[in-house]
This record gives sequence, structure tokens and C-alpha cells, in this order.
Amino acid sequence: MLRSLKWLAFGVAVGALFVVERLRPLRASKEPGPARVGRNLVIGLLAAATTAASEWPLVAPAQRLAELRRLGLLRSFPLRYVPRVLRLVFGFLLLDYTLYLWHWLNHRAPGLWRFHAVHHIDLDLDSTTGLRFHFGELALAAGFRAAQVLVLGVDRDTLRAWQQLLLVSVVFHHSNVELPIEAERILQAMFVTPRMHGIHHSTKGDEMNTNYSSLLSCWDRLHGSLRLDVPQEALTIGVEGFTASDQVTLGRSLSLPFRQDARLLPPVEAGRL
Ligand SMILES: [Zn+2]
Repeated sequence: MLRSLKWLAFGVAVGALFVVERLRPLRASKEPGPARVGRNLVIGLLAAATTAASEWPLVAPAQRLAELRRLGLLRSFPLRYVPRVLRLVFGFLLLDYTLYLWHWLNHRAPGLWRFHAVHHIDLDLDSTTGLRFHFGELALAAGFRAAQVLVLGVDRDTLRAWQQLLLVSVVFHHSNVELPIEAERILQAMFVTPRMHGIHHSTKGDEMNTNYSSLLSCWDRLHGSLRLDVPQEALTIGVEGFTASDQVTLGRSLSLPFRQDARLLPPVEAGRL
């Protein structure tokens, strides 16, 4: 019952964001109209089905094994004697930090970038981009999630709380809502915001290679990868070489990771930095 209510609240929040970002857009749209939204929703549905299907054979068994054998950093000496509430906080921070590293790796490892590029080739950036991940990327991410559970030793309550907040954050920071700049500055001190993540979706390598955080913004500060000095009107959203709408259709987006395409080199290797 509580679970259904949470999903209902999430659906209402996404719907409200979808309306507000059209009333108060932060960036001008290159592909207005329903075709792009429909494409992102189909890719998002496949992604959601993949995540749900990966939970049972991958993440849940990893969680059971880690609990049974007392595996992972947070269950090791001396951390297992730390109060539970502190272990929850550590677990949350470690999940979010290792996701930063995973996202960074997705921009460097050619096999991962092929899939992550499908998310980046969207010509506009809005709440539906936050749902648009290739099903292959989410299958790989489920393997990474199982590794996080085994290595970090986070319990299922911490994992669930972090995943729920992450989902809200991902839809929010991809959105095209123009927040008052003061509100965005206050939020940015702690969380990833639409202007901050917009820079990460730039076609330019020195802009895309920044702002990898997904929930808490501190990881970019820690690694010196935070960039806030690019005005949104100066951004071109997408990936170099994929700037026309006939290059990002549903079929071409879904088949992209499996094609031989010289444009699919990770931005770092392609010398765009
Ligand atoms: Zn990225």
C-alpha cells in the first residue's frame, strides 16, 4: 500500500515537473513536439523493465549473500560496532560516491560509453531524459549495484532509501525547469540541480567532462570536476556527430551500442577534451 502511494506521488511529481518545465523552460527546445517525448518514454519503459528484471537474479541474491556471510566494508571491524544510524549515513554516502565513480567510468570505458551515449544523444534535456537510459546501461548498472552491495555491505533499507531519493534527483536535475537563480544556488550547495547537470550534457568535451554527481553535489567539489560557469543559453545539448533528429530516432538510439560507429569513441579518447 505504502509502496503504491510512493509510486503515485512520484508519478504526480514527474507529471507536475513535465508541465512546469514547459511553462518556465530553462533552455530552448530543438525537438519540440510529442515524438521525442514518446521516444524517451519507450526507452524509459524498457529501462524500467530491465531494472525490475535484474533485481531478482542479481541485486537481491547479492544482498542475501552479503547479509548471510556478513560481507562488506560496513560490516567489517571496526565499522560494525559504529551505531546503526551512523552506518546508515556512511552507507548512503558510499553508495552515492561510488555512483559518481561509475558515472565517471561510463564516460571513459569504450564498452560503457556506447550505452551511456544513448542517454547523452538526446537533443534536448528535460524530465523525460532522466528516464531515457538504454536497457543495456541499466543491466550493467544492476551488476554494479550488486557489487556495491557486496563490497560496501549496505543493508537493504539504506539501499532502498538511496535508490528512491536518487530516482527523484535524476528526474529533477535533468528537468528543464528554470528555477530562480538564488534557489538554484542554495540547492546546489548540497544537491545536483538542472543548470549544473545541463553543463554535463553539453556536446563540448570540457563541459561534458564535469558534474558527474547524481544526487549529492559534493563529489564534484571533492574531485575538482564541478563546473558552474557556463550559461545555459551557450550550451549545445547532445553528443558531437549526433546533432540531427534523424540520427537519434528510437531505432537508431536502441541499436546505437551495437553498431560500428567511429563517433562512438568516449569523449576523452576522441580527443574532445
Ligand atoms: Zn553522463
